[in-house]
Amino acid sequence: MRKDELPDPNGQEIRLFVCGPTVYDYAHLGHARTYLAVDMMVRYLRFRGYRPHAVMNITDIDERIVKKSEETGRDVQEVAHEFEKFFLEDMKTLGIDSIDRYERASDHIPDIIRQVEHLISAGYAYETETGVYFDVSKFASYGQLSHQSEADLRLRRLELCSTKHHPEDFSLWRKFDEGPLWDSPWGMGRPGWHIEDTAISMKHLGPSYDIHAGGAELVFPHHEAEIAQGEALTSRKPFVKYWIHTGMLNVGSVKMSKSLGNVVRIRDALATCTKEELRLFFANTHYRRVASFSKSGLLKARRRLGSIRQTVRQLRSCSSEKPAGKVDLRLLRDVSRVEAGFMAAMDDDFDTARALRVLSRFLETARRKMKSRRFASSTCEGAVNRILALSSVIGILAD
Ligand SMILES: [Zn+2]
Repeated sequence: MRKDELPDPNGQEIRLFVCGPTVYDYAHLGHARTYLAVDMMVRYLRFRGYRPHAVMNITDIDERIVKKSEETGRDVQEVAHEFEKFFLEDMKTLGIDSIDRYERASDHIPDIIRQVEHLISAGYAYETETGVYFDVSKFASYGQLSHQSEADLRLRRLELCSTKHHPEDFSLWRKFDEGPLWDSPWGMGRPGWHIEDTAISMKHLGPSYDIHAGGAELVFPHHEAEIAQGEALTSRKPFVKYWIHTGMLNVGSVKMSKSLGNVVRIRDALATCTKEELRLFFANTHYRRVASFSKSGLLKARRRLGSIRQTVRQLRSCSSEKPAGKVDLRLLRDVSRVEAGFMAAMDDDFDTARALRVLSRFLETARRKMKSRRFASSTCEGAVNRILALSSVIGILAD
């Protein structure tokens, strides 16, 4: 992984796309981890003086939604809309307020069709009797993001279909005669998943943009395919400046997965803890690393949050009880130091775990000092406000 310096903030816009959920089931803690990490990044960019603009897609066209509708005997759109509603409720309950637009794939069919037509006319895609496919042999850097050679890619047998020119080619449009259908120059059918996101992100963020985020499991083939599509469409490199991938989530020491039956829904987790506890829990692991969800981890987060809150309360009451007095320069210097440390941690690839440690250490020291002496009220008030501003990046105290 390479780290770069971001340009000076000065109100500069940062355009960001986040791969959203496929709305066929309730969102789980894996989603929460990714979207909370993105939420903290956007809050931090705002705190630093950037103007982030974030778009998330809602995948409401997908074979899993079709399957769910067949299983339940309900209309496909009804299923998708219901789980979209649950998802947006969960985002709200988690305090995720950083997404400016949620965009459904089904609202972008004309954009998708235009992109597929363009890819065919530019020689990057071809039609067969089953659909339209992207010819990865025409895109020289395919495999770069996931560091795979042509031979590696050939071994990944995805989207089995005998009409494709190469096994690694991926679909842009699939021809179907049942299920939800849209008309296209290639007949009735449905778009491929990768092109849905490329069409949505380019429509709302432009032909190239700053950050594209998603879970690590999306690196291949999804993001690899998105780069191929985006760069083939515009002949501009890079399509996206920075790719941000969140690590996997384990439950205990086992990967959380549907097949293992250990998936924890966001709403079930939030029945046993608060959003602040969950935010602190996830912030305590760097977003790129594997995180392990456990009751004991959550309890630790609860205790830590309790102690942070208590110290902030003490600092506050010190400010309300004591008359305005001499400003304690040492406390203000400590607060400046904690701000610098917090920012240094967040500037280093959004290291929320380190930023939290800086904050906790300061509060521990402040608590000790408060036992032996009192600070002047004007100092306390200023210190509390500055600590609250830092903690609002993580979202662990009242926003
Ligand atoms: Zn995506």
